[in-house]
Amino acid sequence: MAENLNLLTSTQNVIKTALDKLGYEESVYELLKEPMRILEVRIPVKMDDGKTKVFTGFRAQHNDAVGPTKGGIRFHPEVNREEVMALSMWMTLKCGIVELPYGGAKGGIICDPREMSMREIEQLSRGYVRAISQIVGPNKDIPAPDVFTNSQIMAWMFDEYSKIDEFNSPGFITGKPIVLGGSQGRDKATAQGVTICIYEAAKKRGLDIKDARVVIQGFGNAGSFLAKILYDAGAKIVGISDAYGALHDPNGLDIEYLLDRRDSFGTVTTLFDEKITNKELLELDCDILVPAAISNQITAENASDIKASIVVEAANGPTTSEATKILTERGILLVPDVLASAGGVTVSYFEWVQNNQGYYWTPEEVDEKLTKKLVDAFENVYNVATTRNIDMRLAAYMVGARRTAEASRFRGWV
Ligand code: GLU
Repeated sequence: MAENLNLLTSTQNVIKTALDKLGYEESVYELLKEPMRILEVRIPVKMDDGKTKVFTGFRAQHNDAVGPTKGGIRFHPEVNREEVMALSMWMTLKCGIVELPYGGAKGGIICDPREMSMREIEQLSRGYVRAISQIVGPNKDIPAPDVFTNSQIMAWMFDEYSKIDEFNSPGFITGKPIVLGGSQGRDKATAQGVTICIYEAAKKRGLDIKDARVVIQGFGNAGSFLAKILYDAGAKIVGISDAYGALHDPNGLDIEYLLDRRDSFGTVTTLFDEKITNKELLELDCDILVPAAISNQITAENASDIKASIVVEAANGPTTSEATKILTERGILLVPDVLASAGGVTVSYFEWVQNNQGYYWTPEEVDEKLTKKLVDAFENVYNVATTRNIDMRLAAYMVGARRTAEASRFRGWV
């Protein structure tokens, strides 16, 4: 809980500093410091044992001055109101950074899908949509996948919403299976966005990806896709980890083999005896470090021991604010989460555009458009950071918050 309050407070602090630097008055911060709307719902589900269990869910809509709100829905036992609030604000920042015509939103249900049957998950997904149906819609608020939700869950939610709406509404939700109007490339979009940021950062540091030594913390969806993409590009992945430990080989790990042995939750290190700890992994000698697991991994305690010259945050909030300061002072190029993880929502936007026009793009078209969006966003944030002599996180927040602040001003809200 304390950590989540921190997540909200630290997000608010950076937004405040960003708006101050941009010269906005206090009222803009007052408007943006919390979501405009938060709905809390109770969802009864008849479980497989015949008993009814009542779940709690949330949907937070941060600000819709720019356009409809957008953001994923997570199914997790630790979901709570403050976390959903903070994450909806991050979505505003991400959409602002990649210039999507959206504000931010986030949803969540307190549950553990790992302990539920497919039927129970389906009932919960449909119940959630019924409960929030009045505040969502293709032109109001567009959900998507997030932690422990996937294209099947999106399909059930889309179906439920279409029943309520009485016609097919593919633009209501993104991250759908391709056959139901999903976009090419949505599944690997987040990892691809991180990869594009890695390439751009490497260019800035004069580093060739081909021989770069990379450490990836986490072997889940983002981490494993990323390991594969960089491995295929000729990088040496010298360390990877999961929740149980880390593997290290200074000559490069055999990623194909590890991917083959990985289970669906991203566990692989349990198969090996020679392991190092996650702490040791972060401090390994390498060029690029990608924290792709959980929050608060690089802190004031270990920031001085990081050897990488580039850190790209594929996880949410892996670096504390003190650590951000230390890394920046040490000349390490830190690409913040709100920029590095914006690939997912970018392809979600492409999916929504394709749904609206009823005309679908090839994988190559999606790829090209995603690359352009992310490269431009990286350049923009990097330029703000260098010209203003501030860290990349603050620069990203400035770029991200500006559109919503401006739109709110034009609308006469502040
Ligand atoms: N849940 C993802 C995120 O947090 C994707 C959101 C979306 O596609 O709308 O960025």
